[in-house]
Amino acid sequence: MSSEHFSDLFSAFARDGSVTRADLLRLFDDSGILEDDPRAKRLLSAINRSSDTISREEFLALMENSPTLFESVLDGSLVIPQFRQFCDGIAKIFDNVSETRHGTLPTYIPQLERVDPDKFAVSVCTIDGQRFSLGDSDDYFCVQSCSKPMTYCIALEEVGEATLHQYVGREPSGKTFNELTLNSWGLPHNPMINAGAIMSGALIKRKSPSDRFDFVMEKWKEAAGGAKIGFNNAVYLSERQTADRNFALGYFMREKKAFPAETELLDVLEFYFQCCSIDTTTKAMATVAATLANGGTNPLTGVQVFRPDHVKHCLSLMLSCGMYDFSGEFAFSVGIPAKSGVSGAILLVVPNVCGVAVWSPRLDELGNSVRGVEFSKRLVNKFKFHTFDSMLGLRDGRIDPRRNMYESRLSGAYAFCWAAAQGDVSEMRRLVARGVSPSVADYDGRTALHLAASEEQLEALRYLLQLGVDVNPVDRWKNTPLDEAVRANHSSVVSILKEYGAKTEQECAASEVREAPGEIR
Ligand code: GLU
Repeated sequence: MSSEHFSDLFSAFARDGSVTRADLLRLFDDSGILEDDPRAKRLLSAINRSSDTISREEFLALMENSPTLFESVLDGSLVIPQFRQFCDGIAKIFDNVSETRHGTLPTYIPQLERVDPDKFAVSVCTIDGQRFSLGDSDDYFCVQSCSKPMTYCIALEEVGEATLHQYVGREPSGKTFNELTLNSWGLPHNPMINAGAIMSGALIKRKSPSDRFDFVMEKWKEAAGGAKIGFNNAVYLSERQTADRNFALGYFMREKKAFPAETELLDVLEFYFQCCSIDTTTKAMATVAATLANGGTNPLTGVQVFRPDHVKHCLSLMLSCGMYDFSGEFAFSVGIPAKSGVSGAILLVVPNVCGVAVWSPRLDELGNSVRGVEFSKRLVNKFKFHTFDSMLGLRDGRIDPRRNMYESRLSGAYAFCWAAAQGDVSEMRRLVARGVSPSVADYDGRTALHLAASEEQLEALRYLLQLGVDVNPVDRWKNTPLDEAVRANHSSVVSILKEYGAKTEQECAASEVREAPGEIR
């Protein structure tokens, strides 16, 4: 990236020759890049230390701390550019869903029954590391079956797809998660149910059980980008004590000679109970989900935890088998790869966009969190996150918060005029930062200034005038922005334009200072 480009970025945001520290901090805050983000720590503390107004030289020096991230925040090229609006939408869903109190706590693992049933948390992490949380997002809960996608991915990294699937199928079982059943080859139906997760665990081999567990915890920590991943010993003991069904599944598979040679069955079962007892928060789990959404690379640290092809396999199985006996229905109506656990956790992966973690302990009769399922349904009612939403046209009333949503419909130039008409100054700044000329005009010679004037968008109008755009462009109907404002009776627009020397077309003609409109780029 050239320093000239960085200098242009400065110009896009400068007012009277400088940018303010408050503006920069607000941009970061709005973008969802948090202070503990390893990519942003140095940069944000440098911004915090700088003076109230920042000159071009200081701005360029600041950028050196983290140029790519800085640029993406300023020009809005993070995957969800309007992150605040997106978070507001999530918060509304959260508030509505929190009123639901249906469902019951699971009783077969006593420790799970002791959790406060009213707990509710949602966290989001995008593939660009934009984060947002609501509710009890710092509370720990055990991951239970949300460990299964991780165990599967780790096993894939160990032995590869071909070997792994000699031991586990990839069909939904159509039965409950712990049903004493195997497929017609005597193998577990898929890795998202108990038998299949026990089998994935058997394929992760280390010198000792402790080494194996350490290794898996390391993978979890890498996927969570350093966020806290713990272990709940009480859950583990409780789990082991009440695990007759899982023991039965293990012995059943051994009887069918389903395990690889030299499998220590009891060690493998212990390992399975330990994985279910991994303890975390929605904040950490959303980052794990974002690592999957990002093809296996942690968005905050840049560490590649899993291979993209392994993640693809995992997401395919989450979509078809991740939500117990509700998997088909969930794939149909929500259409997001997800994995549910009996602790009330749901891990959702919106590929190439974000990971979402929801935790609310009350379960429905199929074992899924009631609020978690409700939240997921409302999420896709509001946002176009269903895997097959791309089949639909643009106008179905739902929002696609992804980057380039404007540009996919319109060129940068049209997007700029559109943003001016809406008074969306943040979007205008981002487009200027991305190189769109603020003087562009559309096919009819209408510039952003015409639109801001006729729609009475005062902030957009001031922004354009401060950027120094031509104040008297004439459109194909021979109107200047001042003509528009006078005709619509927008007196504040008229007086602002006049401050900058605006004229009506007639006045322009009289003084022959008419200028041609800018070009579409
Ligand atoms: N530890 C639980 C079991 O094996 C996990 C169940 C779940 O979350 O689906 O029964």
